[in-house]
Amino acid sequence: MFDEINQQRRNLIKFGFFSGLTFLISPKKSAADDLIDQIANDSSNQIVSVRIWPSDVYTRLTIEAEQGIKAKYFNLSNPTRFVIDIQNSTLNTVLKSLTQNQFDGDPIISGIKVGQFNPTTVRIVVYAKQAVSAQTQTVDPVSLGSVNYKYRYVFDMYPANAAPSNKNESNVLDDQMLAFLQLNADQPKGDESTAAPSSKRSMDYPVISAPSGASDKQTVNKGKILVMIDPGHGGEDPGAIGHQGTKEKHIVLDIAKRLRDLINSSDTMQAQLTRSQDIFIPLGARVAIARKAKADIFVSVHADAFTSPAARGSSVFVLSEGGASSAFAKYMATSQNNSDLIGGMSFQTRDSAVNKILLDMTQSFTMRKSSRLGQTVLAQLKDINKLHSNGIERAGFAVLKAPDIPSILVESAFVSNPTEEDLLRTSDFRQKVAQQVFDGLKIYTKQNYKLA
Ligand SMILES: [Zn+2]
Repeated sequence: MFDEINQQRRNLIKFGFFSGLTFLISPKKSAADDLIDQIANDSSNQIVSVRIWPSDVYTRLTIEAEQGIKAKYFNLSNPTRFVIDIQNSTLNTVLKSLTQNQFDGDPIISGIKVGQFNPTTVRIVVYAKQAVSAQTQTVDPVSLGSVNYKYRYVFDMYPANAAPSNKNESNVLDDQMLAFLQLNADQPKGDESTAAPSSKRSMDYPVISAPSGASDKQTVNKGKILVMIDPGHGGEDPGAIGHQGTKEKHIVLDIAKRLRDLINSSDTMQAQLTRSQDIFIPLGARVAIARKAKADIFVSVHADAFTSPAARGSSVFVLSEGGASSAFAKYMATSQNNSDLIGGMSFQTRDSAVNKILLDMTQSFTMRKSSRLGQTVLAQLKDINKLHSNGIERAGFAVLKAPDIPSILVESAFVSNPTEEDLLRTSDFRQKVAQQVFDGLKIYTKQNYKLA
C-alpha cells in the first residue's frame, strides 16, 4: 500500500511540470494563446494539426507538422500511460487542443496532457483505460485526391491483451484486426526470409486449396453464406469529398450498414463489416479480415470522385490480372490504391509464402466468379441510377486481391458530380443502393451456392 502511494508520489514529482504547464482550456483563444502561437511560430517545427481517431479496434493519434517529426515514446504504469516527446517543438494552441477532447467513447484513451518539457521538447502524456500496446510511424507529406497532409507522426494504440483466442461471435472481427495489427508490428522490415514471422503468418492465415469442379455450385457448410462488406476509406482517409463537403467515407459506411442489415435479415446470408467506425484500415488488412473470417464474398462500397465533375453513373469493378479495361478503370484503381499512403500505414502483403501455381489457379477461378457476381450486381444498379459503363470494369485494385474470395468494388455514384452528390446525401438513395446490391447478391448466391 505504502509502496503504491510512494510510487504515485514519485510519479507526481516526476511529472510535476504538468501542474504548471497544463492549461485549463477555454474554447476561445485568449491573448496568452496568441502569444503562445507567436512563440511557437518562431520554433523550427510548427505542429499544424492533431487528430484522434477512436474505434473499438484501435485508437490513432496523428500529429501533423511543417517538417519531419522526431519523436520518441515510452510507457509507464500506475496509471497506465504513454509519454511522447516531440523534439524541436514548441507548445502551441493546436497541441493544447488535445486536452480538450472528450474521451468517454474512446475504448483506449482516458485523458491527455501536454506541456513544454524543456525549451525544445513538447511532451504529450496519453492516459490509457486499459493495458495498451502501441506502434508508431512517420509519414511523408501526401497530396492526393481530397487530402493534403504535411509531415505526420502516427501513434496507434490497441489493447495489449487482445490475443486472438477466446473469440466470441460479437467481437470476432475486432480480435482479428488486433491480431493483424500485432502481426504487422512484429514483422522485421526488409527481411522476408526470417523464420518467425512466416510461421506466425501460416498460423494466422487460412490455407488456400485448389478449387475442385470449377463449374459446380459451391457448397457452404457453415449454414449461411458470409458476405464481408468493406466500407471504403475511413479515419485519416476521407475518400472523395463533394462540393458540398460530403465525405465518401461517411456515405459508404452508411450504405454498408444498410446492406449489412438487409443481408442479416435474409435466410441464406450473413454479413460482417471490415470497419464499422470512422477509422482507417489498410487495404491489405481489409483482405486479411475477410480471409480470416473465411468470407465467401467480398463487397467493397465506394462513392468516389472522377477527374471531371460531369462524370456520373454507378459502376462495378473486379480485379484484373493484366491491364485495366479502360483509362477510367485504371484511374479508379490507382486512386483507391493510394489509400494506404493517405491513411499512413505502410503495409506489405506477403504472398510469397503461398505456392505460386496454386495461387494462380485459385485466383483465375475466383476472378471468373467475381465477374459473374459483378455483372449481376451491376444489372441491379441499372434500376436506380445511370451506369457509367455498360459492363463491369477491371483493374488492379489492391482491396480485391483475396485469391480465394470472389470480390467486387461497387461505385455507388460519383460524389464529385453535383447531381449524384445530392442523391448520395439522401438516405432514400443510400437505401436503394444497399437494396440493389443485396438483390444482386441474392440472385448470384442462389445461382452459385448450395447450402449444406
Ligand atoms: Zn473510394
